[in-house]
Amino acid sequence: MTERNTTIADHRYAARVPTVPEQPLAPTGKLRDARGRLLHDLRISVTDRCNFRCTYCMPKSVFGKDYAFLPQASLLSFEEIARLVRIFVGHGVEKIRLTGGEPLLRKDIERLVAMLCAIPTWRGAPLEITLTTNGSLLARKARALRDAGLRRVTVSLDALDDRVFRAMNDADFPVSDVLDGIDAAQRAGLAPVKVNMVVRRGVNDHEILPMARHFRGSPHVLRFIEFMDVGASNGWRMDEVLPSTEVLARIGEHFPVAPADPNYAGEVARRWRYLDGGGEIGVISSVTQPFCGGCTRARLSTEGRLYTCLFADSGHDLRALLRSGHSDEQISGALALLWGRRDDRYSEIRSSATASLRRIEMSYIGG
Ligand code: SAM
Ligand code: SF4
Ligand code: SF4
Repeated sequence: MTERNTTIADHRYAARVPTVPEQPLAPTGKLRDARGRLLHDLRISVTDRCNFRCTYCMPKSVFGKDYAFLPQASLLSFEEIARLVRIFVGHGVEKIRLTGGEPLLRKDIERLVAMLCAIPTWRGAPLEITLTTNGSLLARKARALRDAGLRRVTVSLDALDDRVFRAMNDADFPVSDVLDGIDAAQRAGLAPVKVNMVVRRGVNDHEILPMARHFRGSPHVLRFIEFMDVGASNGWRMDEVLPSTEVLARIGEHFPVAPADPNYAGEVARRWRYLDGGGEIGVISSVTQPFCGGCTRARLSTEGRLYTCLFADSGHDLRALLRSGHSDEQISGALALLWGRRDDRYSEIRSSATASLRRIEMSYIGG
């Protein structure tokens, strides 16, 4: 293992065992953090492995042949994940996103989907369960996922040009298979499919228009994501971030767009509509227009560490509590303490100095 790998593994394993209060308070379904933000969304990374090596996420120079992925026994089992989800729901979580790594690489993922679909929210409604995938296995899995109860998927696709896409996923994976996956998802009823494109200036920004053209008039919703300084391995530089305003300007020159109302309060993507009725697009401006003020997202890593921010440098080891005989009430109390202290707002204080701070990799924590 290279020295760089060791650094990542080291802080991947840096986690604190949460404090369990002696007399845990009963959950109220309305847990708030130190900035008054509710705990509404939970992103769960179900595997740290991936069959792509996207240069901005799992570059081969770091995630090479000798990279030590987590051993099977480290992963939370589906039963452990479902147990934690029930505890999170008690504090107000209504939305779950399964992610990774590549979530469709986790064996029998549809069984987990079915288990989570059986858990009602605090208010007794169905949990909203979605999944983010690179699409490579979607054509094969879409039907089983829908049958298990999944309603929607988000598919990542960074270019339509095969050469650009293969270079970005660095696994020689063709665009056509991802497009087949998107179609299969739509046919299976996992709709509307959201398509995420990470825009990196000088790498794939010339693909913005072809992507917009391709998905205009389709039932799918294309969203442009600003390249973020997640993890410590993607060599992020501010000058590679193409601000969403510029994305919109470039599209607007050809296809005029107007802002649309958010679907719900705190929606991360800003919605825009083509004025000629060609459908909608979205922009996620995490770098240039931070949305920490409304951030209600917690993240659970593959091995059960809770991260209260995408840019955190260490997590809270909930698996240690699960595996040392603590009751649901105790774990719920520990979670209430953790979230109650949460003060994160990294994107609001980002600078060239913060970009070089150590932090967790996105494939481990889940995007
Ligand atoms: N493998 C799945 C996929 O690619 O959709 C799920 C995990 S991936 C980490 C989740 C999302 O994070 C993807 O849409 C990916 O494009 C995005 N992502 C990864 N690294 C990023 C970065 N540095 N900046 C912005 N988005 C990033
Ligand atoms: Fe894999 Fe998704 Fe990261 Fe690409 S963005 S390397 S597909 S986890
Ligand atoms: Fe939420 Fe952290 Fe992202 Fe801000 S930087 S929006 S607190 S995850």
